[in-house]
Amino acid sequence: MKLRWRRALVKLSGELIGGRGGALDAGGLRFYAREVGTARDAGARIALVIGGGNVARGSALPHLPPTAGHTIGILGTLINGVALREALAEAGIPSLLMSALPCPGVAEAVDPWRARAALEEGQIVLFAAGTGNPFVTTDTAAVIRALTVGAEVVLKGSKVDGIYATDPQTDPTTQPLPRLTHREYLTRGLRAMDGAAVAIAADHELPIVVYRADREGSLLCALRGEIGSLIA
Ligand code: UDP
Repeated sequence: MKLRWRRALVKLSGELIGGRGGALDAGGLRFYAREVGTARDAGARIALVIGGGNVARGSALPHLPPTAGHTIGILGTLINGVALREALAEAGIPSLLMSALPCPGVAEAVDPWRARAALEEGQIVLFAAGTGNPFVTTDTAAVIRALTVGAEVVLKGSKVDGIYATDPQTDPTTQPLPRLTHREYLTRGLRAMDGAAVAIAADHELPIVVYRADREGSLLCALRGEIGSLIA
C-alpha cells in the first residue's frame, strides 16, 4: 500500500523510548528501532526528534532556576539520542545523530544540508537537544526540524490513538478526532501537542498526525495515513 507521506519527521517522547523514571528501556529502544527500520524498508525517509521527559522536564524541576531545569531536560534528549543510535545500529539501520547543543565526540552539530543529504541516502537522522533553547519543548523542535529538512508531516507518537476532545482516562466514551485544523486545535485548547509547536506548523501549513505508536507496524500505518488524528 502506498505511503501518504514519504518524508516524515517522527517525534518520539522520552517516555516511549526510555521508560519511566529516567531508566533507559532496552525493549522500548529496540521496538522503536524496528518500527523505524520497517518504515525505511517501505521507502520512507525518516528524521526523528527525541524527547527527554523520561530523564527530566524543566517544568518538573521547580527548585532550580528555569534555564537550568530546561538545560537538564535538553541533556536528557541527548542521552536518549545516544541510546537510540545504538539501538538502530544493533538493528543494522544507518543513522546520524545531530545535536542542537554542541557536544563534539558524541553528536554532530545540526546541519540542515547534511541532514537532508543523509535522509536521501536512506539514513535515519536523529535530532537531539531539542531547539537548543530553554522554555520550549521537543514538540516545537519537531516542527522546526520538519520544516528545516523539508518533511511533509510531523508524526507525533503517543500512547493513545490520537487527539481527544475530553480526557480518555476519565471519559471512556470519548473518541479520537479524525481531523481538525490548526486553528481548531489552538482555539479548543487541546493538549496532545504543544500550542507553540502547532502555531508554527499553522504558519507553514505543515500537517501533524498524532498516532498511537506502541503497537507493531503503527509507524508504517501512520505513514500510509491509516491511523491517528490529523491536524491540517
Ligand atoms: N527542552 C527545552 N528546549 C527544547 C526541548 C526541550 O528546554 O528545545 C527541555 C524542556 O524542559 C522539556 C525537556 O527538555 O520539558 C524534555 O523535553 P520534552 O518535555 O519535550 O520531552 P518529552 O515529553 O517529549 O519526552
